[in-house]
Amino acid sequence: MKHILPNAMLGILGGGQLGRMFTMAARAIGYRVTVLDPDPDSPAGSLADAHIVAGYDDLAALDRLAETSVAVTTEFENVPAESLRHLARKTRVSPSAESVAIAQDRIREKRYISDAGLTVAPFLAIESAEDLDQDLNGHLPGILKLARLGYDGKGQVRVKTPEEAKAAFARLGRKSCVLERLLNLRTEISVIVARTGPGEAITFPVAENRHESGILDISIVPARIGGDIAAEARNMALRLAEAMDYIGVLAVEFFVLENGDLCINEIAPRPHNSGHYTLDACLTSQFEQQVRTLCGLPPGDTRLLSPVVMVNLLGDIWRDDEPAWDKLLSEPNVMLHLYGKKTARIGRKMGHFNVLAEDAESALAQALELKSMLQESKA
Ligand code: ATP
Ligand code: MG
Repeated sequence: MKHILPNAMLGILGGGQLGRMFTMAARAIGYRVTVLDPDPDSPAGSLADAHIVAGYDDLAALDRLAETSVAVTTEFENVPAESLRHLARKTRVSPSAESVAIAQDRIREKRYISDAGLTVAPFLAIESAEDLDQDLNGHLPGILKLARLGYDGKGQVRVKTPEEAKAAFARLGRKSCVLERLLNLRTEISVIVARTGPGEAITFPVAENRHESGILDISIVPARIGGDIAAEARNMALRLAEAMDYIGVLAVEFFVLENGDLCINEIAPRPHNSGHYTLDACLTSQFEQQVRTLCGLPPGDTRLLSPVVMVNLLGDIWRDDEPAWDKLLSEPNVMLHLYGKKTARIGRKMGHFNVLAEDAESALAQALELKSMLQESKA
């Protein structure tokens, strides 16, 4: 494929924080960016060269994007696959509509991953209430998850009995779900892959992820797991990207079970919150990889320059005024990233910071201290 070179106009569907960081990475190299997002105040829109304010299914707006951009990518998986197909008739699109469609639907996603010979958490596809009449024993206690449109733990209910599963299915609106067995996790990790094509793929170092109330809280890199588990995770992520013939940045979330076995939880067809550490700690960030893979360039080197801990900043710490940024910015080894969102809400991702240190343990200790400082300075 011909390389797309700087000064070309790149398009992105979605103007949230991921779109914003893509825009910054693209512009740093000298590309121009058009964002399509219905929100006139989107985090990426204000930084882009052009902002088309329209819905993701607005065909005229998609045509405008396709006509003005030499290549288009997306920052979220819930863009209609049909919109990507529409764009692909007129311009280069990565990831493909097909890849995004797989990640949009937990049932397809899990089937695809296990058909590729990779392990997923044991699950049942629940497409109607009758599917809950079968023997659920192997899957309880479990989590009933909406097959589509869930994120940050939304659309998920923990259930212990078949009766609870039925009630939860009704509560979730009788839409397609998966019932997944609740596993005992040693920890959770993720691997981000960047792939331009056959033989042009690379993985980032493994992140160890801690969640709070279903939302990513902290990523620790390198993950505190054995080197063999880390190598296996990177290998599995790469195999999945190959199986999908995936072009772009693919995030793969794993569960590490008590016995050290890995299973894939889910995938995201885009840069991932657990990859924000790469902005400051890797030679190439996940967003630059999104630019490079979109432009047909080989992925950049993913070497880790320093141990790092990433902390998410949720709207919870805002309350009446801004958190104590002066204290955070006074730390020379802490890198603050705010997304420019106008209003803070509980659970809303407003920014993150990366702490770089000699080793992951001291980065973690400092990160936790700063996190509680930000919470307390508001109390
Ligand atoms: P996000 O968009 O933040 O990745 P999500 O809404 O897609 O979240 P999942 O990744 O499916 O949700 O689950 C969120 C978290 O819930 C997981 O990271 C894990 O901590 C926990 N969890 C999910 N499924 C299981 C399971 N089968 N066993 C144990 N814990 C689970
Ligand atoms: Mg998840």
